[in-house]
Amino acid sequence: MNLNNLIRQNIKQMIGYSSAREEYQSTEAEMVLIDANENPYNTDLNRYPDPQQKLLKKQIAALKNIDAEQLLLGNGSDEVLDLIFRSFCEPNQDNIIINNPTYGMYEVLANINSIEIIKVELSVNFKINTNLLLDKIDKYTKLIFICSPNNPSGNTIDSGEINKLLKHFKGLVIIDEAYIDFSSQKSWSTQLDAYPNLIVLQTLSKAYGLAGIRLGYCMASREIIRVLNKIKPPYNINTLTQKAALDCLYNPTNYRKQLEEILEQRSWLIAELSHIPIVKELYPTEANFVLVKVDDANRRYKQLLKHKIIVRNRTKETNCKNCLRITIGTEQENKQLVKILKKLK
Ligand SMILES: *Cc1c(COP(=O)(O)O)cnc(C)c1O
Repeated sequence: MNLNNLIRQNIKQMIGYSSAREEYQSTEAEMVLIDANENPYNTDLNRYPDPQQKLLKKQIAALKNIDAEQLLLGNGSDEVLDLIFRSFCEPNQDNIIINNPTYGMYEVLANINSIEIIKVELSVNFKINTNLLLDKIDKYTKLIFICSPNNPSGNTIDSGEINKLLKHFKGLVIIDEAYIDFSSQKSWSTQLDAYPNLIVLQTLSKAYGLAGIRLGYCMASREIIRVLNKIKPPYNINTLTQKAALDCLYNPTNYRKQLEEILEQRSWLIAELSHIPIVKELYPTEANFVLVKVDDANRRYKQLLKHKIIVRNRTKETNCKNCLRITIGTEQENKQLVKILKKLK
């Protein structure tokens, strides 16, 4: 793979914005900061945030056993995905390959950026069809997206098949690991040195309980990260988000406790659901949700809504006829769900 051949022409040529705060290297306390037109009166929020998020990256890098230079943080994974599209895909020319069904944002971002989408169907059990996928690659294919564990099906994608893709594809393979904490599989971030075309995406929105702060990140080669850095908005991670993320990562007690509880609840809920007559099939899950085939998804969805329970109706997705995607809630929420599902007529 030659990364230079993958970068969009205009991005290759442009010079990124240099923010005032990127030009000096010192601790703020001892400096007179009259370079960025800020209000000088200290409120903890009067200064622009660190554009390179050094403290937070250091913490995430240590946790993931990678180098801080292999990290790019975004305002949610959605921003990271958008940066990847805008760095590597030439509008009205390039294409991407996604599995079907999968997370909806890849398609939305491809549409926003005017990039053709090639969809390859997963099997009825949501297994990847690598040979078919490899057949679809043409000279304009820049990105292949793999969501593992996959949303909405919940299963992880076979690592042997992903290895095959990474070896044979000369573009970038993005592995979205939003649900990796709930999975027994190890992260693909351990393979960054083996594959220069690998981008691993993670988020604090799910297991870490911080969907509200919007923090996602990708891990990749230093070369890929340099390209993404060049086009990211200088201050994309705000001060409050950096602080909340650091607080959580410095003290992961709640994260660990809640993760354990969610996994226990997942087992409990699956066991309960398997005895309910309107449940026709439960798909194996390694995420914090379970895809459930019921007798009539539209009808059951509306009934649950009347009981003030909102699930995700996925019946229109490929191979998801009559399927509801149910997030693992608290013990009380799960009990309430089971109680109502048992009563539905
Ligand atoms: C929830 C989710 C994300 C997280 O997106 P954020 O913007 O980080 O909140 C990413 N990918 C998938 C597949 C998801 O389901």
